[in-house]
This record gives sequence, structure tokens and C-alpha cells, in this order.
Amino acid sequence: MKTIIEPFRIKSVEPIRMTTVEEREQLIRAADYNVFSLKSEDVIIDLLTDSGTSAMSAGQWSMLMRGDESYAGSPSFYRFEEAVRELMPFKHIIPTHQGRAAEHILTAIVAGDSGHGKIIPNNTHFDTTRANFENAGITALDLVVEEGLDPAFEHPFKGNMDLQRLEQLLEKEADNIPLVELTITNNAGGGQPVSMENIRETKALCERYGKPLYIDSARFAENAYFIKRREPGYQDSSIPDIVREMYSYADGMTMSGKKDTFANMGGWLALNDDTWAEQARTHLIMTEGFPTYGGMSGRDMECLAAGLKEIVEEDYLHYRIRSIEYINEKLDALGVPVVKPAGGHAVFIDARAMLPHIPPLQYPGQALSVAMYVTGGIRAAEIGSFMFGRQPDGSEAPAGMDLVRLAMPRRVYTQSHGDYIVECLEEIYGRRDELKGLEITWEPPSLRHFTARLHPLGCALAA
Ligand SMILES: *Cc1c(COP(=O)(O)O)cnc(C)c1O
Repeated sequence: MKTIIEPFRIKSVEPIRMTTVEEREQLIRAADYNVFSLKSEDVIIDLLTDSGTSAMSAGQWSMLMRGDESYAGSPSFYRFEEAVRELMPFKHIIPTHQGRAAEHILTAIVAGDSGHGKIIPNNTHFDTTRANFENAGITALDLVVEEGLDPAFEHPFKGNMDLQRLEQLLEKEADNIPLVELTITNNAGGGQPVSMENIRETKALCERYGKPLYIDSARFAENAYFIKRREPGYQDSSIPDIVREMYSYADGMTMSGKKDTFANMGGWLALNDDTWAEQARTHLIMTEGFPTYGGMSGRDMECLAAGLKEIVEEDYLHYRIRSIEYINEKLDALGVPVVKPAGGHAVFIDARAMLPHIPPLQYPGQALSVAMYVTGGIRAAEIGSFMFGRQPDGSEAPAGMDLVRLAMPRRVYTQSHGDYIVECLEEIYGRRDELKGLEITWEPPSLRHFTARLHPLGCALAA
């Protein structure tokens, strides 16, 4: 049998409330053309994020009662710790309420009294990672390979670190670099993977300069699956073995349990260095909680432990990656410009290429995202000039790309939902010339995409 099916059946469902185009036109107007302001009940297919939106398994739900809520020394912690260590054999495992809390603690350690003058290179820093480092005065530098910046260029590992630029940086700035980081998969760069060879060579450079290598690990299992599929020499390796090899090159990791552990909340920091671990636990107690629960309840830790075993199952990963490729291929065949190859957790549409009549500062990505909502009730995030266009001095500049991200929650939607997404975009693509740009009528001083209000150009403002 060649057909790939969802490797699960459905035991509990959440009804979707169907709405009409007319209702959605009103709802998006009331939300000031910002999809973040919509109520999730008014959305038919929600592709805003794959974070915390996974469907937990019966095995995970059954762990809720097993959660031991003792303040100190809970068996749930030890089961969580063992499940992490099975894949990522670090000496110290420090539980946090989500990924950014682990990043915050790591930042406090490496910044010390002041982060000014320090530099942390990464293939591409994720928003919260960058915000944590920059808030402490540290310069967050992105050194992804050039191929990773070209949406249409096909390359198996577009998330790789540019080793030449990393070496030049280490040569010049060695004293100012507290650690080197790799984000797998490269979320901000389209969910593109990093090869084992690149992880190994990044580690070799780190060793030469005496720097620890940390892995920002939200989508480690998707990355391991891409290695198995695309990198010579790994076809016969098991996913857990690939994961263990990936982490054998790292000195520590931060993790968002809201992605590749099927949990709705949770995370951790793991590391080998005893001194840093001691400092991390001190920060943890101040900001999160006691070291055997950190920011999580016992039942959260049980769900993470169970989810970690499920996420490395090959049938799941095969379905996961294939279901995203499936949508990407269908859109590509229709002529809709998509980032290629498909990333591990999302389909990215190049809205600037699809809507060349809308200039970047009239937010083609936002125009497409609004059209997807009105046409099909689909919610997707703009990642472009609306999100990044505002400069620190208040002026506007186009972002490098104007993309719309269709992030797929794990185990939530079926193939017919995928077909519906494709049909919605086919319809919009057929009348793409009619889409209009938008203007911002109100914005906050920073992170405007979450709350800004917009209005379509060429339509009268409602009284
Ligand atoms: C989501 C994410 C984070 C932050 O994790 P949260 O759990 O959302 O705080 C950090 N890095 C990457 C790559 C992520 O995708």
C-alpha cells in the first residue's frame, strides 16, 4: 500500500462552527482586519501557530491522574527527567513553564552583570530568543546559509549554519562569544532543517574556540526525520538514534514543549556544566519554581514524558512531514508561490510574489491572510512587512520577505482539511488581482502585529 494515512483514529472531537462569507466579512471588520483579534470560535481552520495546539493522545490524557503534585521530589519529575535523558542525555534537566522561560534563565547566566559587547550567533534566532538576548544587551546574530534566504531555491538543509561566517566571527570576536546556538528546525527561516554534518561541524568549530554549543530544540523530531530522509548515511538509523547523535554534539539545549512533545504547555533547559546548572536552578527558584517542577504541574510533566516517546515514532513523523508536503505540492502545482521545499511544521506562501500589485508597505501578506479568512474561515499569520516593517525610529521599511505562514497543529487536522485549504487558496489565486492592500489606522509602539488595527485601501472607513 502506497497511501499514507493519518496514523491515529479519533476518540474525542471538537466541533467546528461553520460560518458564511458574509458573517466573516463582518467579523474581520470588527477585528480591524487583524486575525489575532478574531475569536477562535469564529475560525474554521486555525493555522495561526503549531505551538501548544497539538492533540494529545489517549496515552497522554491518561497520565493526568498519574501526575503527582508534590512540591519537592515528585515521581512525575523523575519520569519526565528520564524521558528527556533517554533522547538528550544531559546531566542537568531543568523544567520550565515554556521555552522562553528556559531562554530567559540561560540569558541571565550568559549575560552576567551586563550583556553589552557580547555576541551570540545562531542559524536564525527565534523571536523570543532574540528578544531575551537583546533585552540583556547581547547582540543576536543570524548566520544561516545563503540558500536559506531564497524562498524558491530547493536545498535539503536550508537551516544550516554558514560555517565560514561562523569561523570568521569566532576568529575575530572569540572573547565576546559566550556560546553558539543552533535552532532546529530553523523556525524563523521557514521550518527548514539542519543536517547532522552541519551540527557536527558547528560543534568542531565551537571546540576549536572553546565555546559551548546550545540547541534551540522546539522541532528536534522533525529535524531528525529530515536527516533520515535526506542525509546520506542515515536511512537505516532509527529516529531516537539520530536524535541522540544530534545531542551528542551539544553542551546544552532549550526546549519549548509546546511543539515537538505534543504538550499544550511546558519546556526545559538542559545542560552539562555544573556551575551554570547551579546558577540556572537559583534563577529557576526565583522565577519559575522548585527544581523538581519548575514552571509545570506534575501532570504537565507526565504528558511531556509520554509525548516525547510518541513524537519520535516514525509513522507519525512520516505522516506529519508528508501532510505538509502534500499541501505545498498542490499549491505549487496551482501556481501559488510557496517556499520550497516545504518546512517541517508549516506551509509558507510568498505573498509578495503572488500579489505583485500590492507594494510591501501595503502589506500583501496581511491582504492574503485577510482574504483566506473571509474566503474560507482559515486563520494564518503574516510574517513580513506588517510584522517587521516598523523601524526603531518609527519609520517604515519593507521586510526581507512578505510571507504568510500556515502552521499546522500536530494531529489536529485531516487530509480533507488540507484539501479545503488548497481549495480556498485556489479560489483566491483566481482573483488575486482584486485583492487590495491595507493601511494601519492604529499601532502600539512595539510588536504591533498582535494588536494593530488596519483598514483596506480603497474602501470608505465605516462611520
Ligand atoms: C516556540 C519557540 C520558542 C519559544 O518557546 P515557547 O514555548 O513559545 O516559549 C523558542 N524557540 C523556537 C525555535 C520556537 O519555535
